[in-house]
Amino acid sequence: MPDPALIDRCVHCGLCLPTCPTYASWGQEMDSPRGRIYLMKGLTTAGGVPPAASPTPPAAALSPSVVAHFDRCLGCMACMTACPSGVNYEALIEETRAEIEHHHRRRAADRLFRGLIFWLFPHPGRLRLALVVQLLYMRSGLRWLCHRLGLVRLLPRRMRALEALMPPVSLSHLAARLPAEVAPDGPHRLRVALLPGCVQRVYFPAVNRATLRVLRAEGCEVVVPPRLGCCGALSLHAGRDGEARRFARAAIAALEAAHVDAVAVNAAGCGSAMKRWGRLLAGDPAWAARAAAMAAQVKDVSELLIDLGPRAPRRPLAVKLAYHDACHLFHAQRIHTQPRQLLTAIPGVELADLPDSDQCCGSAGVYNLLEPDSAKEIGRRKVDAVLTAAPDLLVSANPGCTLHIQMLLRERGRTIRTAHPIEVLDASIRGAPLPD
Ligand code: SF4
Ligand code: SF4
Repeated sequence: MPDPALIDRCVHCGLCLPTCPTYASWGQEMDSPRGRIYLMKGLTTAGGVPPAASPTPPAAALSPSVVAHFDRCLGCMACMTACPSGVNYEALIEETRAEIEHHHRRRAADRLFRGLIFWLFPHPGRLRLALVVQLLYMRSGLRWLCHRLGLVRLLPRRMRALEALMPPVSLSHLAARLPAEVAPDGPHRLRVALLPGCVQRVYFPAVNRATLRVLRAEGCEVVVPPRLGCCGALSLHAGRDGEARRFARAAIAALEAAHVDAVAVNAAGCGSAMKRWGRLLAGDPAWAARAAAMAAQVKDVSELLIDLGPRAPRRPLAVKLAYHDACHLFHAQRIHTQPRQLLTAIPGVELADLPDSDQCCGSAGVYNLLEPDSAKEIGRRKVDAVLTAAPDLLVSANPGCTLHIQMLLRERGRTIRTAHPIEVLDASIRGAPLPD
């Protein structure tokens, strides 16, 4: 369980409650940050969860209903931004989730589904296999038939969510590969490693290609370390701490071998986890210093480009954008001005006001697969805001957010083009059209 000193920083003021998406959905104290901290306090105190705070008797400390309140937390960290007492909710929820994964036995179907997700998503090779199956399913007419016959409705709730999330894909996704190393355009400024990500490299290869081109245009020598796999973010955020440490050690070793000045990340969830590698491996004497040193080199690509300063000329783009703040960029990394600075520096770009742009869209890593009903309810508020802003292009720096918002728009029969901020910048630098 989390350190009681971390828990005791909460003074129960409730200022975080209005920012919490699950509290907004249900108005229940136990589905608010303060309520969840009460539950944590109960779990670390002899006697279990206090009856006043718990829907279950104290003896059932890690009961299914107590666990459900933690499962329903998005890990969006909006409460951390709002908290005047500096409560480190990120550490609290990660450590509580690790405790749950170590000591709570979930239902067989839950274990099976989680097993499938964590077997698949952190492994790009397996994701590519899944992509082949998806291509056959979508291109053969089987998907159309399954929907037409109502067979999809017979799937378990979470499998339905997985099916609905599938974005349109093509053979080009399967063939996408990045070069191992590219030289900078013009004088050398920095040697940078690019994290290609797992979902990003398979489902959004164009984002990685755009990142590589922009870094190169800005004078960076870019390396894509061949052995660089998952950073451990999905596992860390789900309480699978042992798995997260294994992924982190392997990624750190691969990055060390690349001998770079900085590590550029274009997926918000990955960047926030990598910046916390030092904490994750603090208890491992062989890795603690290496993890902290590598974490200090990690930068979101927008942060890196603003620190570096622009060199490549920007060409005009006549487009109205809405920028959605990915939680793990805005709340976890406190990065909100840099992507906007990059976008508004492009002549002709109009940045529309997206109401509550820093509110979670419901994607939250694999939350939209594990808690699909809650994710949809939260996502509907985001989609309402997007439709109100009516942009030509919705911009977001996290592949999970993009997939989830696209899915919710499809469900409403609406289409709004989506892009990563780096793709917009790339189009401007190259004088190319914006992504379709
Ligand atoms: S992380 Fe998000 S969902 Fe969880 S308690 Fe904080 S604000 Fe609520
Ligand atoms: S704002 Fe901070 S101190 Fe106040 S209830 Fe929320 S977590 Fe606790």
